[in-house]
Amino acid sequence: MPTPSFRLYNTLTGQTDPVEPAEPQHLRFYACGPTVYSYAHIGNFRSFVTADLIARTAEAIGWDVTFVSNITDVGHLTEDDVADAGGEDKMAKALRKEGQRFANVWDLARYFSDALITDWRALNLREPDVRPRATEHMQQQIQAVAALQEKGIAYETEKGVYFAVEQFPAYGKLSGNQAAEALAEGAAGQGRTTVQDPEKRDPRDFALWKKDAKHLMQWHSPWGWGFPGWHIECSVMATEYLGEQIDLHAGGEDLIFPHHECEIAQAESLTGKPFAKHWVHTRFLQVEGEKMSKSTGNFFTVRELIASEDEGGRGISPLALRMTLLSGQYRKPFNFTFDKLRDNAHHIQRIETVIQRVDAALQANAEGDDFVGERLDGLYERALQAMLDDLNTPEALAATIEGVKLLQGVGDELSGASAQSARQWLDKINDLLGIIRPQTEGEIADDATADPLAEKVEALLDERAEARASGRYDRADEIRALLDEMGIEVMDSSDGTTWRRKVSV
Ligand code: AMP
Ligand code: ZN
Repeated sequence: MPTPSFRLYNTLTGQTDPVEPAEPQHLRFYACGPTVYSYAHIGNFRSFVTADLIARTAEAIGWDVTFVSNITDVGHLTEDDVADAGGEDKMAKALRKEGQRFANVWDLARYFSDALITDWRALNLREPDVRPRATEHMQQQIQAVAALQEKGIAYETEKGVYFAVEQFPAYGKLSGNQAAEALAEGAAGQGRTTVQDPEKRDPRDFALWKKDAKHLMQWHSPWGWGFPGWHIECSVMATEYLGEQIDLHAGGEDLIFPHHECEIAQAESLTGKPFAKHWVHTRFLQVEGEKMSKSTGNFFTVRELIASEDEGGRGISPLALRMTLLSGQYRKPFNFTFDKLRDNAHHIQRIETVIQRVDAALQANAEGDDFVGERLDGLYERALQAMLDDLNTPEALAATIEGVKLLQGVGDELSGASAQSARQWLDKINDLLGIIRPQTEGEIADDATADPLAEKVEALLDERAEARASGRYDRADEIRALLDEMGIEVMDSSDGTTWRRKVSV
């Protein structure tokens, strides 16, 4: 059978390209995750759903998937749309506003990342294989900035370290945004506090490291106390877990510039190789025809929609919310409305009725011919082909709804082989679209919230202990040196071995 072609629009080429993993049938991709200064809203989740559907579609055609999605917990500033981002750190601002509820900014980050993961699971999103945090990859970010400086691509000023855009002629290849003047003007827009560093050589140059000994989250670096720019975390964490060249990179449309443009500049300057082959961007979600905004009262978090009415929420089924988010193709503008939510809640009820009938028929275990299998197979194929065609979710949902209506129509006649076919179809549609039933505990990867660096360190320490026990001291020393390079300090004592992350390089 020929390998099915999975086609996605690629912002880099401006056309719908086949997804071609470097290692055939193994998709390695990165999606920008949230900044954990508050609960994620339904717009954020529209972007996360796109990443989830990319993974599900690739898996549906038998590919392996390695999916990395980060958590931004430092360095994302309020005025992030211009080259030299400025304003306040979103994390620090949240703590200033919500200070009463949290002991410190770390506590706030932990609380909102836990909340994110809860909502992520409620919406049946596939767990990333790795969910790295920016604050836990500080050594790697500092090393990347230092390496750029050594290559003469980054330079230091009194305020920080900047990427010299002039040194990367391909800058602008993703966004087409090459006009230095436009960026400089952007920085001076209404109500902004961003002041361009006068020592910058070019208005397009963006910060890799901000010197700030007063910042709430700061690290020691070769340039003194400070914190990393927002863009460097994603290039560093993507290459750390997926390698220097990745198959695909996703995010919301607002990230095309400057975030993704800067990620490309950083990663490609460091490695000399093309970074991501495919760039996928989700159009913004609007609510009832307007930009979502707290001031107009049309701003919704996932949890306030799905919490029960007793808990002050709206009691919407998470599956209905997910189905609503799927009802628009990711690349088209999407208008989220309560009418759509109601319609999808009806579809979900219908699905639940069908599941009950199928379960009852399977339990009754009566004999019967398969009079639905062929038609259901055709409908699954239609849904899969739609997903392979640039994630055409409206068409995939239409095929699903047709299958559900078919099963509802046959009702009590379902038995034996037809009930088996119905069950298999529901399971396959669920794997593809995640709208049939909530994930069970067993389906949620245990290591979803694990700290990948800690796991790596523990594995190396185990190997070192074994090497020492068997007298292979050279290997033991080698591992210690490797850990040292990774920024890990190893402490041996009579009680055993412990380790910690070193604070400075
Ligand atoms: P942030 O927490 O601001 O870093 O955003 C996390 C992700 O959500 C990014 O990929 C954003 O591009 C995306 N995003 C933010 N707002 C929306 C929206 N209204 N519609 C779709 N995606 C969004
Ligand atoms: Zn990112």
